[in-house]
Amino acid sequence: MLDQDAIVRYARQLVLPEIGGTGQAKLAQARVLVVGAGGLGSPLLLYLAGAGIGRLGVVDDDRVELSNLHRQVLHGSGTIGLAKTESARRRLHDVNPGIEVVAHDTRLDAGNAEALVRGYDLVADGSDSFATRAAVHAACLHVGVPLVSAAIQGVSGTLTTFKAHLGPPHPCFHCLYPATPPAGLVPSCAEAGVLGPAVGALGGLQAVEVMKEVLGVGESLSGTLLLYDALAPELRRLALPRVPDCPHCGGASCG
Ligand SMILES: [Zn+2]
Repeated sequence: MLDQDAIVRYARQLVLPEIGGTGQAKLAQARVLVVGAGGLGSPLLLYLAGAGIGRLGVVDDDRVELSNLHRQVLHGSGTIGLAKTESARRRLHDVNPGIEVVAHDTRLDAGNAEALVRGYDLVADGSDSFATRAAVHAACLHVGVPLVSAAIQGVSGTLTTFKAHLGPPHPCFHCLYPATPPAGLVPSCAEAGVLGPAVGALGGLQAVEVMKEVLGVGESLSGTLLLYDALAPELRRLALPRVPDCPHCGGASCG
């Protein structure tokens, strides 16, 4: 049962037929891990905290820098120099003291990804390196939790949901990226630049997909890739089929 404070706090989403009291209870019971408290993680964490996701895990090993603030709206001048997880914990507690925020002040890699993912019902990845995104996906596939994955560079980005652990027709990360790009070929945010509000728009869309998965409403993005181009501006949805002979999700090993 929601107390009086919660009824007021969530009033504007409780009246939505897609949420209501039952949906709000699902959000409160949900455990969501967010990888990266940066440009995508900022709107993602703020909206998920505001919506009342019961346990929010935050993985990041960076500290807040002045050059982050044009896009990483979770942080501010007052937390420059602090660990991003601690800066996030303070801000999210201010947004919603009724939720639990778990800080994982570490860099997610292939060695610790599974241990981090276990204990969560869903993972949202807003990290900025291909290696990290591949490691997050491998852990989610093995542990069996859905992954809402976004990436952005410059003025355009992508968003999709991976549920290949459920078998066909759901594709996996490697159906989309069959080969690992050579190190140095994909420029970082620092090298290529990134438009702050474009990151915010994509992170907001990512938060919507996380809420839909938790609530079990609407159409899942699994099997489709959303392409966002801020300059056109355009939002395109492409089919993302499962590759039959994909070595990561195809064959008899899965499904
Ligand atoms: Zn695959």
